[in-house]
Amino acid sequence: MRDEILAEITAVCDSQAFILGPKVAELEEKIGALCGGWAVGASSGTDAQLLIMMAMGIGPGDAVITSPFTFFSTAGCVSRLGAKPIFVDIEPDSYNLDPVKLEEFLECSCIRTPKGLVTQQGLLIRAVIPVHLFGLCCDMDRINEVCAAYDIPVIEDAAQAIGAEYPSRTGVKRAGGLGQFSFFSFYPTKNLGAFGDAGVAVAADRMAAGKMKTLRNHGMEPRYLHEFIGGNFRLDALQAAVLLRKLPYLEQWSRRRWDIAQRYRELLSGVPSGLTLPAEPYRTACEARGHIFHQFVIRTGQRDALRGYLRDHGIGSEVYYPVALHRQKCFAYLRYRQGDFPWAERAADQSLALPIFPELTDEEVDLVGKTIFSFFQC
Ligand SMILES: *Cc1c(COP(=O)(O)O)cnc(C)c1O
Repeated sequence: MRDEILAEITAVCDSQAFILGPKVAELEEKIGALCGGWAVGASSGTDAQLLIMMAMGIGPGDAVITSPFTFFSTAGCVSRLGAKPIFVDIEPDSYNLDPVKLEEFLECSCIRTPKGLVTQQGLLIRAVIPVHLFGLCCDMDRINEVCAAYDIPVIEDAAQAIGAEYPSRTGVKRAGGLGQFSFFSFYPTKNLGAFGDAGVAVAADRMAAGKMKTLRNHGMEPRYLHEFIGGNFRLDALQAAVLLRKLPYLEQWSRRRWDIAQRYRELLSGVPSGLTLPAEPYRTACEARGHIFHQFVIRTGQRDALRGYLRDHGIGSEVYYPVALHRQKCFAYLRYRQGDFPWAERAADQSLALPIFPELTDEEVDLVGKTIFSFFQC
């Protein structure tokens, strides 16, 4: 895509419009149409999440529930705004927030009050953030049902799931169109990657998106008048132009990732024991969209040995994420202990992401598969 992308970059340079502007507006329209909401371009996925929570007025005295097994920023943003992150464990095989445990927490550990559901310390539960980890949507029908019963808004962390489909009770929908708010990241390693940091926040409600547009530019509207305190969360035109050029290919790239995943599945299904393959619970009409395989994550008790073996054979792999968030030093003040979220802890200890990207060849996939097979046979 070198020439196509360089042409886009040249056009932005010639326009001399480097921040926001028509390219960003066009990207917002396309992403909004993809997931069915109002999109607001932002400087990163993290900043998009901050924008959403700032627009909701989340701050001190509030609590936000999320998964302990996700990238740091999901919970980091909650803390940065002065609210308290609360963790609820994941499902053992999908690695996504468990709706049953969520309901249990809301029902057994919280108190209904006239202003809403509060924790035993008196913090108001302002949002639940399910994370569509590795490109697989959470069980959103059940999460939405539980949250609706307590009138708690849902913010989807769709950073890893652009284009993924979820067969909801009201029809098949895309990640990012399943909650009141959502956000995507275009960090270069994501399925749709920019040439630097970029992200987008999505609101189901048009007014909320309008507020986010003001907040991303210091809450300024009109010029030099500030009704709210926002920040600089603006998206560069260069990033939007690159993303717009790449977007039409997203579908075929996701399809290739899915094909690679199925090839891994076939190659590895014969491994005698001790290896768990990724769950794939949603088969939509277009089955390749039920999981977009941002990562292909296997699980084994011999994770570290397998990783070393692959490294010795010239094969890269990665651990997402080696330490669950409730075990991070910076969250020690939350007073969680080891053993509080056993499935998140097991995932941190045992999961391993294999190479997956559209340009990977079948021969390379076969080599990875055979090498893993031979590891388990020694
Ligand atoms: C990448 C990622 C983010 C943050 O996105 P940035 O664009 O890097 O700020 C948030 N949540 C998850 C699950 C991610 O993978």
